[in-house]
Amino acid sequence: MPVIRMMPLCTALAVCLSVFAIAAPAPHRNAAWSVRITPQKVVNGAPVLLAVTAPAPLNSLGGTWMGHELAFDHSAGRNWFSLAGVSLETKPGKYPLKLEGATASGEKVQFERTLLVTAAKYPTVKLTVSKEFTAPSPEQQEKIKADRELKYDVFRRISPEREWSGSFSAPVNAETSNPFGTRRIFNGVTKSVHQGLDYRVGPNTPVSAVNRGTVILARPLYFEGNCVVIDHGQGLLSLYMHLAELKVKEGQQVEKGTPVGLSGATGRATGPHLHLAVRWQGVYLNPAALLKLPLPDANPKAAYTRE
Ligand SMILES: [Zn+2]
Repeated sequence: MPVIRMMPLCTALAVCLSVFAIAAPAPHRNAAWSVRITPQKVVNGAPVLLAVTAPAPLNSLGGTWMGHELAFDHSAGRNWFSLAGVSLETKPGKYPLKLEGATASGEKVQFERTLLVTAAKYPTVKLTVSKEFTAPSPEQQEKIKADRELKYDVFRRISPEREWSGSFSAPVNAETSNPFGTRRIFNGVTKSVHQGLDYRVGPNTPVSAVNRGTVILARPLYFEGNCVVIDHGQGLLSLYMHLAELKVKEGQQVEKGTPVGLSGATGRATGPHLHLAVRWQGVYLNPAALLKLPLPDANPKAAYTRE
């Protein structure tokens, strides 16, 4: 009988001790993780700002989400942020966000929650372009292949440091025409998804950089025409297409508002306009959604305060 009586007691004591053992060493056991997402409704094709408050002051914070590595920057105190995105192809559903940080003493802290992705509605349009863009000749196909290899090389570069600072600003002061995500049928046959945002501008309108960064491509391409690609750091790129003239060189640092070229109709274009695209870690994101996002300024490291 005494043995039978002792068993539940031992089990209860063991549970009690293990709870105590987990809770006791944590320096901030009253603090909890918090993750705020902007915009609150996450859709396929859209960028998303993750603002994380950690349970303790951290020296570093990283994360993973849908196969992407998230780079977090420290803002103040226990607060960190990361700009991420959802590919157009992502199906609606819940996707786990995993965070892992390290405190000054090297203690690892982890957190996991799911983020809900819902489906955005994108329209379908029919367009007519010159035949060389739907049925290119063998020589044109060679150029397209060379462009593809060049773009592959340029796009896979990810500069680890964030260069962008604060919200993004529009490249031209003009109305938009064709939105991002539109399913397009060229000449009744070729189908593609519009992976950028078109601005209704006449020829030779100055086009400016949407944020701070480094020009990693500034040259003519077959479909894109005269094209500029700016690396904003942490895998975020902005692309400006169909330019009549280039105003920057590869390797050049640009600020938000720096003129990068003049608008035109080079490459596969139905007429003069600016095509702006945004790419993050291999996926195209809706530029209009990025331009609307309120984003934090870059803080000089010296101004950081840690609790
Ligand atoms: Zn376009």
